Amino acid sequence: MSERVYEIGIVGRIRIDAHSLNNEGAVGNVTEPRTIVLADGRKTDGISGEMLKHIHTKAFWQLAKERNTPLCEACLTLRPEKANKNPNVIKISEVKGALNEALKCALCDIHGFLVEKPTLSRKSTVEFGWAIAIPEQFYRDIHVHTRVAPGEKGKETESEQMIYNRPTRSGIYALVSIFQPWRIGLNEINYSYVLNDEERKRRYGLVIDSYKAMLSRLEGAMTTTRLPHTSEIDGLIIKTVNAMPVPLITPLKDDYKEQLEKIIKSENIQKFDSLPNALEKLDELKTYQPYKLGAQ
Ligand SMILES: [Zn+2]
Repeated sequence: MSERVYEIGIVGRIRIDAHSLNNEGAVGNVTEPRTIVLADGRKTDGISGEMLKHIHTKAFWQLAKERNTPLCEACLTLRPEKANKNPNVIKISEVKGALNEALKCALCDIHGFLVEKPTLSRKSTVEFGWAIAIPEQFYRDIHVHTRVAPGEKGKETESEQMIYNRPTRSGIYALVSIFQPWRIGLNEINYSYVLNDEERKRRYGLVIDSYKAMLSRLEGAMTTTRLPHTSEIDGLIIKTVNAMPVPLITPLKDDYKEQLEKIIKSENIQKFDSLPNALEKLDELKTYQPYKLGAQ
């Protein structure tokens, strides 16, 4: 039997140039980039965990559909916020049974959901922190663009031109993400698994492939004209094989790898220093089985 994996952590640095992923929103005709203030007061650039989780969710959904993985009615159209609409869940008033029903959907199981009636929620098995730019290694520029107002083509007067400002950012970003294979298909009311080993392993593989998809290309805001230039990526994929959380040290710290290497056994650390290398290391994780509570 192949070895089990309890938790997986991905920590690393990725260089993204000339992007506009994830902005604060528009103030007048100026779009504001996201700013993070660190504990020492330094300000830096960031891409929210919500956006990164959304990228992973979307990749998961596409792969799940391709592989005919069961999805609930809400998730079939990628509207997990509408989990309330799953008729098979809301007709069951007893919470344990309703949760068992909800876990039949691979996306609800992996990425979590909230149902109002019966009151039921599931915490995602995949978590992302903000991607935070190394404070000394980011730049921002606001570019002024003009475009002729719709329907006004051919008229050259200045008043008919729309002027707008778009931020363009470049930086080396610290990434942190956690995946909890032990919770796949786990009903966390009575702590029993509602899926067989084969289905748990299938969902586990989908999560790994979704990480591969998102690292291969970051989708997000303004990519129609600000497609991110991603280049160097390096970091660690760490795992635990017993019921211990994977430790996290932010890649904002220059010595994060050395520190993690002191805590985790070398056989549970995979280093990567390029995209092909990261994808290869992720593929290697697919040989493992998701950990099962109480199955020692
Ligand atoms: Zn669902």
